[in-house]
Amino acid sequence: MNPFCYRRAESVEAAAAFLGEADEASLLAGGQTLLPTMKQGLAAPDMLVDLAGISALKKIRIEPDAIIVGAMCTHAQVAGAEAVRRHVPGLAALAGEIGDAQVRNRGTLGGSIANNDPAADYPAACAGLGATVLTDRREIGADAFFLGLFETALEEGEIITGVRFPLQRRSAYLKFRNPASRFAIVGVFVAGVPGSVRVAITGAGRDGVFRWSAAEEALNERFHPEALERLALPLDDMLDDIHASGEYRAHLAKVLAGDAVAEISGVA
Ligand SMILES: Cc1cc2nc3c(=O)[nH]c(=O)nc-3n(C[C@H](O)[C@H](O)[C@H](O)COP(=O)(O)OP(=O)(O)OC[C@H]3O[C@@H](n4cnc5c(N)ncnc54)[C@H](O)[C@@H]3O)c2cc1C
Repeated sequence: MNPFCYRRAESVEAAAAFLGEADEASLLAGGQTLLPTMKQGLAAPDMLVDLAGISALKKIRIEPDAIIVGAMCTHAQVAGAEAVRRHVPGLAALAGEIGDAQVRNRGTLGGSIANNDPAADYPAACAGLGATVLTDRREIGADAFFLGLFETALEEGEIITGVRFPLQRRSAYLKFRNPASRFAIVGVFVAGVPGSVRVAITGAGRDGVFRWSAAEEALNERFHPEALERLALPLDDMLDDIHASGEYRAHLAKVLAGDAVAEISGVA
């Protein structure tokens, strides 16, 4: 690992100022992705700006129609928060399915969405709920935030401060996990009532998370697993790798979407 300078910020403003001091600084959240990448020599920042000392980023706050989760909230914190479990059950379920206990205790919401791994879970919740990413500079809708594999709309030095998730009791997340890494082979987030249904899929798309608009239209007409029966995801858009073929992923996505609809609507 290359030598680097370490700075621990006590506020978002201080973190932004530290970032400006180095040629190639990186923000450090839980280090779950960044540190292994540095150890492998795939990243060599000359400064790490640690966000762990910023208590404002570790809070979960309820508003009348939304819940705001701070960027430094761990997956375990989100999975266990009573407010999240009650108001957005799909989000709590998703956070509780990430990795193993160690990963859930170190990994953060901000680190996960900034990284935008194509098999990560949180991008599905953001896209599936129509969430808004909050940064130290602006607000970015989820549909405009995730741009492609490991690519986001974040600008150089922009700091995610949190995500605003609309309250949605009718939400569910189902994933078929890679048994080794526990990342999603396919993960499907379904949310909403007929007329405003959203379906987001992670793990399966060549370009990362995407919304399945044909399923949304069908479920807006009739919120029932049978509404998906005649649909098929285009194979050209599917990821095809050593873990699963595109055809398998497309089939799995449809099955999981139907199961999520059944879970929300209580259909056996
Ligand atoms: C063994 C293992 C299993 C895993 N399984 C899963 C899984 O099943 N599902 C899943 O979704 N994920 C999984 N992960 C990923 C994990 O949950 C973390 O979310 C992810 O690794 C990011 O880690 P982190 O939050 O510690 O961020 P870091 O590693 O500290 O940072 C990641 C990147 O985000 C940037 N960053 C961090 N915070 C911010 C911020 N506030 N603003 C802007 N940029 C920021 C950093 O500069 C860095 O580039 C797994 C990871 C491991 C190691």
